[in-house]
Amino acid sequence: MIPYGKQNINQEDISSVIEVMQSDYLTQGPITPKFEKELSSYCGVKHAAAVVNASSALHLSCLALGVGKGDIVWTSPISFVASANCVKYCGAKVDFVDIDLETYNISTQALENKLLNASKSGELPKVVIPVHLAGRSCDMKKIKELSIKYGFKIIEDASHAIGGKYYGEYIGSCSYSDIAVFSFHPVKIITTCEGGVCLTNDSNIYDKIYRLRSHGIVRNEKQMVNKSHGSWYYEQIDLGFNFRLNDLQSALGINQLKRTDSFVKSRHAIVRKYDELFKESQNIITPNQNINEHSSFHLYIIRVIEKDGIDRKVIFEKLRNEGVYVNIHYIPIYRQPYYSKEFDIKDFPNSEKYYSEAISLPIYPSLKEEQIKEVVDIVNKPANFQNIF
Ligand SMILES: *Cc1c(COP(=O)(O)O)cnc(C)c1O
Repeated sequence: MIPYGKQNINQEDISSVIEVMQSDYLTQGPITPKFEKELSSYCGVKHAAAVVNASSALHLSCLALGVGKGDIVWTSPISFVASANCVKYCGAKVDFVDIDLETYNISTQALENKLLNASKSGELPKVVIPVHLAGRSCDMKKIKELSIKYGFKIIEDASHAIGGKYYGEYIGSCSYSDIAVFSFHPVKIITTCEGGVCLTNDSNIYDKIYRLRSHGIVRNEKQMVNKSHGSWYYEQIDLGFNFRLNDLQSALGINQLKRTDSFVKSRHAIVRKYDELFKESQNIITPNQNINEHSSFHLYIIRVIEKDGIDRKVIFEKLRNEGVYVNIHYIPIYRQPYYSKEFDIKDFPNSEKYYSEAISLPIYPSLKEEQIKEVVDIVNKPANFQNIF
């Protein structure tokens, strides 16, 4: 079986976790702060708050920006449901902006049109959550420009994108956003088993996320409401959660982070191989990149243009039958039964077209050249079969 994504674990990763298991602290020791420091210095951002997963990171990010009842938040429909659920946890309303068919990210043209209409009806979003699909950055310069014009905040769902760059800077630098979030789930670029992080340059946002991930408790006297009773004293000043990442996970994260650039480099080599092997396939659209982008290539998404009855579904089933565990990223969120009653698929023509054509092919650092060839042969075979007869 060839999966679509897979973690890369080496002996150093294993030893670092064992070392923490034998130390004084399994959680809330010195390792998570060290991981956070290394993450922020890698991305070139001031603050990092590690949490249990990216879904919680998105939830806390919305709370830190004051999202609540009566607010509206917009995101991309071509994402994992967590990009929208974080808004619902806060009691706010979600809406979607159609994607661009070149990048598969939120269309800035659709965003601008929707903002113009929303400003007339008084329904502007409080926050927009652009999603860097497959690790390719959204057009953040344009989104930032619109955020200034229309007064919304930005949370980057960069779950796919650690190691990717935009205009020479690492995604996560928050140069064009208030907060960026990474996921460390095993299928993502680097892993802590489960895990995520909120990155920001704003110390007020950081303080809020930091206390919300640990029950809303503060231990610094400057942040307290009352005078301290003594050195045992702490105060709960918000309703927070226990969303802390433990030190075993952070030890793994520290080691994985060291290999981020090399993981992304291997992914680029795989992309070049796929691109080359698909050069002659006229029914396949391969991913592209703009000059100022450096995708992390979390996913290698092809689009299958239907020809002689050979469409995405035929190729998908053929791959699965032959043991290639491909996937679709994603079913548009507005199609999920939890959301669908509020939306009309006709409002999202590009997302619909994308959803009917996309397949994510296997991509991970240890994927071998023969396996890439095997996958491409299966994709190309049904079409060739048709051509012969
Ligand atoms: C994986 C993913 C998430 C959720 O990440 P978890 O760490 O599993 O909670 C959110 N958004 C996107 C785009 C993702 O791919």
